[in-house]
Amino acid sequence: MTAGRTYLDYNASAPLRPEAREAVVAALDVCGNPSSVHAEGRNARAFIEAAREQVAALAGAQASEVVFTSGATESNASVFARDWQTIYLSGIEHPSVLVPAQAHGGMTVDLPAKRDGVVCVEDFAAHVLRSDSEARAMLALQLANNETGVIQPVAEACDFAREHDVFVHCDAVQAAGRIAIDFAALGADTMSLSSHKIGGPKGVGALIIRDGVSLPAFLTGGGQEKRRRGGTENVAAIAGFGAAAEAARRDLADQARISALRDEIASAVLSITPEAMVIGGQAERLSNTVCIAWPGRIAETLVIKLDLMGIAISAGAACSSGKVSQSAVLSAMGFGDALASSAIRISLGHATTQTDCKVFIDAWRTIASADERKRTQRNTQDAARTGGPLHQLSGVH
Ligand code: PMP
Repeated sequence: MTAGRTYLDYNASAPLRPEAREAVVAALDVCGNPSSVHAEGRNARAFIEAAREQVAALAGAQASEVVFTSGATESNASVFARDWQTIYLSGIEHPSVLVPAQAHGGMTVDLPAKRDGVVCVEDFAAHVLRSDSEARAMLALQLANNETGVIQPVAEACDFAREHDVFVHCDAVQAAGRIAIDFAALGADTMSLSSHKIGGPKGVGALIIRDGVSLPAFLTGGGQEKRRRGGTENVAAIAGFGAAAEAARRDLADQARISALRDEIASAVLSITPEAMVIGGQAERLSNTVCIAWPGRIAETLVIKLDLMGIAISAGAACSSGKVSQSAVLSAMGFGDALASSAIRISLGHATTQTDCKVFIDAWRTIASADERKRTQRNTQDAARTGGPLHQLSGVH
């Protein structure tokens, strides 16, 4: 991490773990092609298969169920390659799920999210029960949201889906390493993971495909990954992903420390700026994420101010072509544009310290004081322009 900076944007990308760096470097020195039968090839293959075991262990899956991809965007997109007739999903899904689902051509059924950020899986069940046929139906339900950290009732949805023959895809990118995942017990058919969210290198991920589930090949033209994804594997990135997965699994024990730091930030923010609110604060959330809306402020401006003070966080709102748009996740949760465009996300992780929290809290206090001064100044100027209290008094007479 850059010296002198405070990094609180783990949900965007986590800092590379030392174990992952070591594994990447070691694998870079391997010259063989993992598909070759000679010793060099077998050596490269060993890195991939060790990583497969490590990633499977993090997800509670079998190694045979792990397919390495270029990242969760590819993993998510690959699930929509099948000819689904009906796709159930909510607006809080990540764009890498939403966009291919909408482009798919099948019917999509929008599941509302409640104000606390939890998707109404009862609406999914009600719709399935009303439908004549659920042939080729799939539900896309993330395990935890990237902006709010709210955990979704995936196991409950899977129980119902299995009884009614609905396929379930679960984007577990943000949940991995933050809550224990048991793919086998959860009952989903497929699950996406991303290396760089757990401290591995960027540009590598996995799609876990339950043994026996059939999906079209993501990339044809090579026999790699059981013919599901052709092309010589990115051995170094996969090795780094594996090492990060092992470290992330070990760090599940560190989540109580991380959630205490997160709560410290949230309560300080609420005491400094009582008009701010924690989005999804009523629901079960990931230990590391807090989404804060500060009504009347623009999230992007807060991100820039904090960046200039040496702190990296994210805006739920995306700024493209100089225009600030509101957070799609908050809009899907029923919040209006003004509030949705004021939401910022602070996300912590393995290297976050008490000092990082203190730096953030001090910066927030500085921003709030400057904001208060500016507002008081503006009110005084407005009062002077309109005649202020004297003008009102004269109106009484
Ligand atoms: N799903 C979720 C919930 C995410 O947060 C992200 C990353 N922002 C992705 C998918 C995409 O992951 P990747 O960067 O590996 O393509």
